[in-house]
Amino acid sequence: MKYYSTNGKSAPASLKDAVIRGLAPDRGLYMPERIVPMPKGFFADMAEMDFKEIALAVARNFFGEDIEEKALERIVRDTLSFDTPAVKVTDRIHSLELFHGPTLAFKDVGARFMARLLAYFNEGESRTVNVLVATSGDTGSAVANGFLGVEGVRVFVLYPKGRVSPIQECQFTTLGQNITALEIDGSFDDCQALVKSAFMDEELRERMFLTSANSINVARFLPQSFYYFHGVAQMKKKGLGDNLVVCVPSGNFGNICSALFGVRMGLPVKRMIAANNRNDVFFQYLRTGVYSPRPSIPTLANAMDVGDPSNFARIIDLYKGDWNAIRSFISGATVDDSTILSTIRECHERNGYILDPHGACGFRALEDSLEDGENGLFCETAHPAKFKDTVEKATLEEIAIPERLATFMKGEKKSVPLSKDYGALRDFLQDVNG
Ligand SMILES: *Cc1c(COP(=O)(O)O)cnc(C)c1O
Repeated sequence: MKYYSTNGKSAPASLKDAVIRGLAPDRGLYMPERIVPMPKGFFADMAEMDFKEIALAVARNFFGEDIEEKALERIVRDTLSFDTPAVKVTDRIHSLELFHGPTLAFKDVGARFMARLLAYFNEGESRTVNVLVATSGDTGSAVANGFLGVEGVRVFVLYPKGRVSPIQECQFTTLGQNITALEIDGSFDDCQALVKSAFMDEELRERMFLTSANSINVARFLPQSFYYFHGVAQMKKKGLGDNLVVCVPSGNFGNICSALFGVRMGLPVKRMIAANNRNDVFFQYLRTGVYSPRPSIPTLANAMDVGDPSNFARIIDLYKGDWNAIRSFISGATVDDSTILSTIRECHERNGYILDPHGACGFRALEDSLEDGENGLFCETAHPAKFKDTVEKATLEEIAIPERLATFMKGEKKSVPLSKDYGALRDFLQDVNG
């Protein structure tokens, strides 16, 4: 299968090239040339299939032409060493818990899948591939842990100084080995801009085999669709599969985009909601038809503090720019910090379920919008303990830190401070590369 660029000015690429490049030469995002519907029989059977079986069927649909069957089975099996249960919150609303992976956030699946795919394509080559990733918190930890110890790959995590939680920070600054953390004196948008500049630096990119593990990379965002097939399958099994509304707390829109691919493949979802925090560029786009990116502002749901969502271009491409078509399937919501806190508090009191600040945006948007006869599924994208202070402030109860997180916090923090200008990053990378 070929992958074309959303900007339409670069030649279509193979999966291997799309994964190794990350961004197309014309700065566009890669899209698969075809989206093939899953066979009807699959949807009839999926309520009886487990996560790995479902994921393998979906993975074959995307990648079957480009990866040998045995290797693909192994990649899927190694990626999914954990489950993603749909947990009841109210009678009609369930939480799809995407946080049962090693770093307790949903990006683990995409990061682990991408690491294994990159290793597969790089096998037998003598080069080192260098992965650059900008993070507002969770991407860095998922990517660093997904790639830790993977042969032939080195990872640089760029994160905004003082803007990620201590728990998030220690998940990518304490690992060592092939992982280096770069503490940037700037915002997440500055980090993202630095990564983009490095990719546009043709000379550096080619010499260092630079690639991106942000959700612009097809190997990272496409596998996230596994979650939605499994989520819908579980709702069907519970008898709640009809008129299903799926709500995704969104920042860079990679996660919801993978769900939209699922829908194109026939996944029975009635409509979707993209829940934003105060960084609501997409919400405003749905209202007005005008897309105006703007600098991000810090919120309690910091993994969604994005002022110019990189996957917006993919959504536009999927719908051929048809604003009405987008609006008739996806609605938006904007949730401010005080509503995040009150939602965590109320959901805990009424339903005994502890939300994290991102899941709180999803739950709030879904509950406000659900109509009679509809059932709802929202993504709970991070474990609440990752945002301990916020969650405890809302629930007034102490939250236990899972073993996996506690282990990270015992490690020694190591990071390299850098300014937000591109020259500093370039010099640093050049030194490392020798
Ligand atoms: C990354 C992230 C999001 C946003 O996902 P996108 O794919 O960028 O829209 C939401 N919640 C958490 C916890 C995240 O880490």
